Amino acid sequence: MNIILCIKQVPDTTDIKWTENNTIQREGLESVVNPYDVYALESALDLKSRYEDINISALTMGPSQAEKALRKVIALGADKGILLCDKKFAGADTYATAKTIAAAIKSKLQDYDLILCGQFAVDGDTAQTGPGIATFLDIPQVTYVKEIVEYTRGYVTVIRETDEGLEKIRVKLPAVICILKGEFETTRPTINGIIRAQKSKILKYGIDDIPLCPVETGLKGSPTYVSRAFRALKRDVNCKFIGDVKELVQVINSVRGKHE
Ligand code: FAD
Repeated sequence: MNIILCIKQVPDTTDIKWTENNTIQREGLESVVNPYDVYALESALDLKSRYEDINISALTMGPSQAEKALRKVIALGADKGILLCDKKFAGADTYATAKTIAAAIKSKLQDYDLILCGQFAVDGDTAQTGPGIATFLDIPQVTYVKEIVEYTRGYVTVIRETDEGLEKIRVKLPAVICILKGEFETTRPTINGIIRAQKSKILKYGIDDIPLCPVETGLKGSPTYVSRAFRALKRDVNCKFIGDVKELVQVINSVRGKHE
């Protein structure tokens, strides 16, 4: 089974800086692998420990420094890394990100069975990229997956979380599965893994390698934009007042006065 593990580098800081387009300034920031993508890697490694011939290719679209994230997941057990990197990809919203990743998979990595994503990226947090990739590739998707319980020829059975409880689903491959935190031991890099990661050749693809025009990618290919970014104000907590009607009217008026 060939697994494509989509990973995203996220800033390792709460001190986010913004570009003039109201997007996160990522160049030069200390970054980590999105935690949900590490959970997705752990699911892939769990499959690798139970079944034969499982190959994990980690893929990311990002600036050249995202190569570091690929080497981190190779040190943790992924087999190889693929970087989609081009100035034309910069400034992508979730639509353009999913479209670019899907186009790269369709043209360069056709021999895949399963695409694993994290359920969310902790910076953008839209949870749209995985479903977007599935839509552009026209393949099934399962979100909020806690566990991949079984892989039998051509199908995986997964357990997903819903508002009502847990749901067991059998899905035909190829498919996209978006992973929530599982019940795995935290994966740590091994010495061999670190050496392998240092020696690994990262495959790189740019705009000339995929069947998309520059206007379909990056900022130009993004139908949405961030008009304003701000920290949400915390609302007052709910309070219960006990008293007679006159006192309560005074309390209500004073609270109202604060908000007018
Ligand atoms: P989610 O959809 O929450 O991520 C879910 C999963 O998808 C991840 O766990 C991972 O498995 C996979 N994934 C997500 N991103 C990638 C990736 N790049 N490579 C591989 N796998 C991935 N960012 C900029 O840097 N510049 C911009 O100009 C910009 N404009 C934006 C405008 C809008 C309106 C929005 C909503 C976002 C914008 N972003 C921009 C953020 C950027 O689009 C997102 O980071 C990216 O599309 C992923 O979305 P997300 O962070 O919400 O990830």
